[in-house]
Amino acid sequence: MHLARFPRLHLAHLPTPLEPMDRLSKALGGPRLFIKRDDCTGMSTGGNKTRKLEFLMGEAEALGADTVITQGATQSNHVRQTAAFCARLGLDCHAVLEDRTGIPGPDYNDNGNVLLDHLHGATLSHVPGGSDMNAAMEEVAARLKAAGKRPYIIPGGGSNPVGALGYANCALELVHQANERSLAVGLIVHATGSAGTQAGLVAGLHAINAQIPLLGIGVRAPRAKQEENVFALAQATAEKIGAPPVPREMVVANTDYVGEGYGIPNAGTIEAIEMFAQLEGILLDPVYSGKGAAGLIDLVRRGVIGKEETVVFVHTGGSAGLFGYRTAFAGADTTAKAA
Ligand SMILES: *Cc1c(COP(=O)(O)O)cnc(C)c1O
Repeated sequence: MHLARFPRLHLAHLPTPLEPMDRLSKALGGPRLFIKRDDCTGMSTGGNKTRKLEFLMGEAEALGADTVITQGATQSNHVRQTAAFCARLGLDCHAVLEDRTGIPGPDYNDNGNVLLDHLHGATLSHVPGGSDMNAAMEEVAARLKAAGKRPYIIPGGGSNPVGALGYANCALELVHQANERSLAVGLIVHATGSAGTQAGLVAGLHAINAQIPLLGIGVRAPRAKQEENVFALAQATAEKIGAPPVPREMVVANTDYVGEGYGIPNAGTIEAIEMFAQLEGILLDPVYSGKGAAGLIDLVRRGVIGKEETVVFVHTGGSAGLFGYRTAFAGADTTAKAA
């Protein structure tokens, strides 16, 4: 694979660090845990969408777009990073936000990522949960085209073969870092949602024949659906980069940690966020990385991930979302005590 063949804007802070998590490893009495800091990609508090957007926005620019349209849930990290890219490039940004969780109140609906979307100058429109989001984006596109604009549509999560190139590149980067320090990685774990991250990693790992197993921890869809989505996108991405067809068994998702549903943290999510915060000084998020880490922690505790293993957790970002979930955390409401 030779990714220089694709349009790309080099705006991410790369390579992201690969760091040991010694205190968490010790607390779990278990595997050697490392963290790939894709929360540190640099664009508006960072996150995994930045790697995808380097390629997506590269294509938008190559096509002469003056406006970008995308979509996500209210507290979408993808929308926030897209809005930041648009600000950086001087493009208009229109985002359709879906009320996917129905969580009421100003923390969730106005703070966190939503605050940052506004700050970056994005135009937001809101639709009810369950709306046809692609149709909603097409409507915005039709309106803007009629007004003489040249819109470029980015799918939810930036998950198409162009966006997934960012994670094929991450696979190269991670394996190179591990090689340089003679770290034989036995497993890579990360949160999987719209599938682009896992699909890109699978395609990239396969292209370089790294033979490192990858486990996606689901945050929304049931297992069969999630694996189907990832596999389809991994195949398309492999084809795009000229890699051999991806074997189906490379795509593994565990969706046991979704809890009540997308964007609803449960006790395991909160525990994982608090453990990372208090043992490693690292901020996870309540929608994605907190659930991914909850899966990692539980699988270690249950011995599914062996104590002798060397595991890399890819931190996909999202900490801006914490401010939308203030009341999910103990001790957050000090006004009650003060009263
Ligand atoms: C979008 C997102 C994910 C999931 O990545 P996909 O490519 O959509 O599967 C994981 N973590 C965070 C913080 C995200 O914003």
